[in-house]
Amino acid sequence: YNNTAKGDIAFNEVTFSYYGAEKPAVNGISLSVKAGEKVALLGRTGCGKSTLLQLITRSWDPSSGSISIDGVALDTWRESALRTSIAVVSQRVDVFNGALRHNLSMAKSNASDDELISVIEQVGLSALLEGPGLDTWLGDGGRQLSGGERRRLGIARALLRDAPILLLDEPTEGLDVKTEQQILALLLEHAKGKTVLFITHRLVGLTEMDQVCLMDEGRIIEQGSHQAL
Ligand code: ATP
Ligand code: MG
Repeated sequence: YNNTAKGDIAFNEVTFSYYGAEKPAVNGISLSVKAGEKVALLGRTGCGKSTLLQLITRSWDPSSGSISIDGVALDTWRESALRTSIAVVSQRVDVFNGALRHNLSMAKSNASDDELISVIEQVGLSALLEGPGLDTWLGDGGRQLSGGERRRLGIARALLRDAPILLLDEPTEGLDVKTEQQILALLLEHAKGKTVLFITHRLVGLTEMDQVCLMDEGRIIEQGSHQAL
């Protein structure tokens, strides 16, 4: 299947175990998210939140059960179509040894310099443009990024990709309260009309969510509106 997704996501009795693990990381999850809906995933460390998102990007395939996007089974989607349909801010943002330009244009190969600079400014990384600008070298032999800067680089990539599905794995972890609010506002503005799965340990931004799911030991143990939970 080779189109860009509209953005419906459905988990049907999905279970996944890491190789050699005693217990499944994701255990019998059924969840339906309609295009444009926003869902928060909460739960204590190790309960399977990141694994659930990684199943959508096919880092892993379910041990049993199935996942579909727009009603089409994930394994019949072309990889390239999934890539243009899904933007991810992962918990660990990878920085490549290379120019700032290349660390961003991987998310959108035809982006102009002006577009890259605008996104860098939006996420508050303008300091990286000092000196060689977009040619600033990152990683080995270049500028090392702090945890917060990495996070913002990941957010900049997601903004550039501009996909109908946005997966956010603790996008503001390690940012101070004020920056967190700015970045969340930016993400929520960008996310208008998009499907969002938002993993968070914090209770910020939940009022913007249509559903909140509380996970424990690989299962969804509570699900409802943020008022109800
Ligand atoms: P956190 O809030 O700390 O990010 P999480 O809810 O995202 O936690 P996961 O990262 O999905 O939790 O992990 C779920 C379970 O799977 C944990 O027991 C974890 O140790 C295990 N796990 C995660 N990644 C791997 C991996 N690559 N290989 C083996 N086990 C893993
Ligand atoms: Mg995680």
